[in-house]
Amino acid sequence: MIPLAEAQAAALALAGVGPVVEVDPREGLGLVLAAPIVVEHPLPPFDNTGMDGFALRSADTAEASPQHPCRLTIVGTLAAGDDPTGVEVPRGAALRIMTGAPLPAGADAIAIVEDVQVEGSTVILTAPVPLGAHVRRRGSDAAVGERILSEGTLITPAVHGLLASLGVRTLFAYRRPRVAVLSTGNELTDEEPLPPGKIHDSNRPVLLALVAQAGGVPIDHGVVDDDPEQLRAALSTAAAHSDLVLSSGGVSVGDYDYTKRVIDELGELRWLQVAIKPAKPLALGHIGTTPVIGLPGNPVSSVVSFELFARPLIRKLLGARRWHRPLLRARCGAPFERRPDGKLHLIRSQASVSRDGELVVEPYRLQGSHVLSGLAGANALALIPDGDGAPAGSTVSILLIGELDGQDGPSLGV
Ligand code: AMP
Ligand code: MG
Repeated sequence: MIPLAEAQAAALALAGVGPVVEVDPREGLGLVLAAPIVVEHPLPPFDNTGMDGFALRSADTAEASPQHPCRLTIVGTLAAGDDPTGVEVPRGAALRIMTGAPLPAGADAIAIVEDVQVEGSTVILTAPVPLGAHVRRRGSDAAVGERILSEGTLITPAVHGLLASLGVRTLFAYRRPRVAVLSTGNELTDEEPLPPGKIHDSNRPVLLALVAQAGGVPIDHGVVDDDPEQLRAALSTAAAHSDLVLSSGGVSVGDYDYTKRVIDELGELRWLQVAIKPAKPLALGHIGTTPVIGLPGNPVSSVVSFELFARPLIRKLLGARRWHRPLLRARCGAPFERRPDGKLHLIRSQASVSRDGELVVEPYRLQGSHVLSGLAGANALALIPDGDGAPAGSTVSILLIGELDGQDGPSLGV
């Protein structure tokens, strides 16, 4: 058996970062920038007001006080989206203005509506309005020529929005890896009702969903029988049309475990026995230049193996800077029991945040490597090193593989 870290390094060594492609930013969510974004148009594109109020000349208000209020004549209105061409604020005047509207010629400050009094067509101020008050200057968010986003930036929803606001029309990103997923096993079927001796294929839907979640393009290559001929055809087709092939099943030592043999025949194979539980057997290899990961068949093992070996590789292909799920420390809310066996145990767990903000982890009650519901109820894998387990109250490392819910209660209560 080899240590987990060594197996992870071997899986990551299967491929480098994917090719760079030119992308329409509307298709960019979840991709990683392969070149920096340089600002071509200033943001905001024109001076505008950050508040509802009156555009005016600051100098006109310099002497304003409660004893000597300043009275300005309202000469018009500008709303967001209005064209300011030809609109001017002369000395002694003010213009009613709405948030986002362009600053009209002559004006250099905004008096907010809450701070003034209006009498007919006159606005009355009892304090000076400083030069530039509430004015959002052209180019103050992003100036022309500025490198606003660096290579390696992940396009999150906020970055996606920033690209739109900058008017970016095209960008360079690492191509989304196409990931072929296939299941192996004579027992698997999509038929309903189940014929005798058959079971539903659950690995394929889980893995296809995990691929999409990791940022890859999932490609469904169906179920393949435990038959070397069929497996050869399926694996070579999958390899020819993808950047990564994920198979599940057939990598242990059973009589019908053909996956390893066939990958070896078609390309090159390294078969590993990783010192972990679950997900000990693992096949890594290439068919042509396409990396192949043979995940174990047990439903829980295949997901754990995906998380440890396939997801980091997908993130690497995608050009992401960080490939692994977050590793955190959490307090055990219940004991984690195990016996020494030379393996690191990855225990399906529920991590939560206590009322005082502490991360707490508890083992999920169903732990069998065939029990998918044990994984469905878990959002973390607790890493319990070889030995006698971890008592309640002690601290363990956890790999967060799902969403971490917030605290109980109706409000933030800060
Ligand atoms: P294998 O790794 O092929 O020996 O399979 C180990 C166990 O996982 C067996 O009980 C299989 O029936 C089960 N299994 C393998 N592949 C799948 C799958 N795609 N969906 C559900 N169970 C599976
Ligand atoms: Mg099998």
